[in-house]
Amino acid sequence: AQTNLQTSEKMASLGALVAGVAHELNTPIGNSLLTASALSDMVRDFERRLATDGGLKRSVLEAHLADARKACDIMNSSLTRAADLITSFKQVAVDQASGQRRRFQLDDVVHDTLATYAAQLRRAGCEVKLDVPAGLEFDSYPGSLSQVLSNLIGNALLHGFEGRESGAIAIEARREGADLVKLRFSDNGAGMTAGTLHKIFDPFFTTKLGQGGSGLGMNIVYNIVTGVLRGTIRVESEPGIGTTVLLVLPTRAPEGAVQEPLHRPAFQP
Ligand code: ADP
Ligand code: MG
Repeated sequence: AQTNLQTSEKMASLGALVAGVAHELNTPIGNSLLTASALSDMVRDFERRLATDGGLKRSVLEAHLADARKACDIMNSSLTRAADLITSFKQVAVDQASGQRRRFQLDDVVHDTLATYAAQLRRAGCEVKLDVPAGLEFDSYPGSLSQVLSNLIGNALLHGFEGRESGAIAIEARREGADLVKLRFSDNGAGMTAGTLHKIFDPFFTTKLGQGGSGLGMNIVYNIVTGVLRGTIRVESEPGIGTTVLLVLPTRAPEGAVQEPLHRPAFQP
């Protein structure tokens, strides 16, 4: 029998989610704040020059404009990323609170999620190999599934391709029996040691403390996959070769609020 999570556990998993949101929002919002303040310095400098030197040279003007354009682009992409994050977390919260399933096609969710990472993937020179057939229909929680994929893409970018010129992500999906789908997500990046792999689902375990890691990503992934989507997750990794995350997901998730995870990670808070 499956039991609903106790209120206190639900609060704990929501707490981890909120901490994750706060942490992930920090980077794009921090970038935007820094850039906004640089932009306002530029404007002040420009005003001062105009006041003291009425006949500004065209070349000076053009340099100012180029800097301002760059600053606007940075703010634009940072704030877009922040807005995407808020949308996706809001959807997870709605899924968790309402327990309302929705019909969707797996390839739509995969494409939509990848689209939110388009700029970062391009910057990292990351090739994406997709083998997700159309027609894999789910009656489940698309926002939560998208959150899982987001975390896996983010991890490949943050941990997988460090110090490399380029990398590749492969996403592959297959029907498994009548009502399961097997989703394989792999990167050909740095991989991880057995010690890291062992702790990967522990909350706050990160090898990137102070460098963009919070250690909440894979814990949230674990909780969503087992507790919301009611599937299973396995991670395989080899240093220097890459990392593969294997998900087995029911195409019809049970209705109702967050469920007790199927099995618990080794670490208990
Ligand atoms: P964070 O990304 O904030 O560090 P996660 O919970 O997402 O935390 O991941 C925990 C740790 O697992 C990471 O710090 C990293 O060491 C390792 N890891 C996760 N995904 C990958 C990956 N694709 N390649 C290499 N290492 C990874
Ligand atoms: Mg992460």
